[in-house]
Amino acid sequence: MHYDIAVIGGGLTGVAAARLAAERGHKVAHFAPKFAKDYRTSALMMPTVDFMKSSGLLAGDVAFGTPLQKIRIIDATNRLLRAPEALFDSAETGRAAFGYNYANSDLLGAFSKTSAKKRSINAVVSSIKRVGEGYAIETEDGRAVSATMVLGADGKKSRVRDSLGFLSHMTEFGQSALVADIEFERVEPETSVEFHYEDGPFTLVPAGDRKINLVWLDKHEIVAAAARGSQNEFERALEEKSHHLFGHAKALTKAFVFPLSNLSVPCVGKNGAMLVGEAAHAFPPIGAQGLNLGLRDVENFVSAIDELEPGFSVEMAEKASIRYDQQRQHDLRRTGGFVDGLFRSLLSDFVGAQGLRQTGVWALKTISPLRKFAFQFGMGN
Ligand SMILES: Cc1cc2nc3c(=O)[nH]c(=O)nc-3n(C[C@H](O)[C@H](O)[C@H](O)COP(=O)(O)OP(=O)(O)OC[C@H]3O[C@@H](n4cnc5c(N)ncnc54)[C@H](O)[C@@H]3O)c2cc1C
Repeated sequence: MHYDIAVIGGGLTGVAAARLAAERGHKVAHFAPKFAKDYRTSALMMPTVDFMKSSGLLAGDVAFGTPLQKIRIIDATNRLLRAPEALFDSAETGRAAFGYNYANSDLLGAFSKTSAKKRSINAVVSSIKRVGEGYAIETEDGRAVSATMVLGADGKKSRVRDSLGFLSHMTEFGQSALVADIEFERVEPETSVEFHYEDGPFTLVPAGDRKINLVWLDKHEIVAAAARGSQNEFERALEEKSHHLFGHAKALTKAFVFPLSNLSVPCVGKNGAMLVGEAAHAFPPIGAQGLNLGLRDVENFVSAIDELEPGFSVEMAEKASIRYDQQRQHDLRRTGGFVDGLFRSLLSDFVGAQGLRQTGVWALKTISPLRKFAFQFGMGN
């Protein structure tokens, strides 16, 4: 069977892209093997929320997200130079919130709701080869299809990327992220609170009522031990890390640990093949950028295929992939550089870097135009 577009990957970017391509009348094969529930949450900034609504991915419904109105940053390090405490308010951006915090599983449910027809194949792709009519794709369970265009949404270890000769550079960190849902005795409503420690931030993201989503970045052995320990030990550690500001902590879920790495891919579109989401970029979850960037990839993928009639040729697919690559370059470099710089400055023991960070937070606190620029930058504008 031949398709216009084969989308490979059933995570958030793959589901969004396959759905939006099918809604545009293209004949889509979507390779989406079943996977365990994703317990992560995503803070998505207002431009991303706007895209999800205007594209229909959220059907105008943001009710299941929690608004993020304020961001409080507390330097909890014992360093020589410490940054001042800072509170940033979305009112300064002229919007009621910086964005919304969503459970990834809720987003996946919303993205999957479409009446557009596509073929969903619950199987892992084992081989992708360039052939005359585009691409020949085979699955581990022996199914085979061809497609004029292929979209790799198959995550950090992307087979699409590695089989089709997209260069990539991966750096592994000694840090991991621990996520869990926690209920505190009291919370600061709609405020994301970040404690910056020597080995990474400890962030409490509001999730409605007294519930928060914890994202704790630290040395791998520290978070792995916290996840393995008893519930009581875990809860006491959370109270200590949050300086007892919010009272008793109760873990509502078990803790999940994600090793951190940085992945950069210089070219993300060529020969009728394109990469979106973590197949194209990955970095530590600070500044809430990963999925925001992934959904901007999907937005540009949609504009690249919007210009194509269903049944488009291999040549048209090639041109669309090159256009997509050109459109993504600036955003990918800018966002990747921003997160990498921020992550390294947070972990740096070098007094010069600590001074820069301290001056940076102080400048953001006191200089309004700079703060507004930083807000726009962080939101992906
Ligand atoms: C702790 C943590 C917190 C985060 N918080 C935020 C946040 O607040 N805001 C934000 O914007 N981002 C955040 N992110 C980043 C965000 O979670 C990711 O960018 C996003 O989930 C990536 O989605 P994806 O669809 O690109 O990849 P994935 O979710 O990895 O999906 C890839 C899919 O491809 C499938 N696949 C793989 N190989 C094959 C194959 N050969 N054949 C078929 N299918 C295949 C896999 O089964 C998987 O389902 C966070 C990340 C972490 C680790």
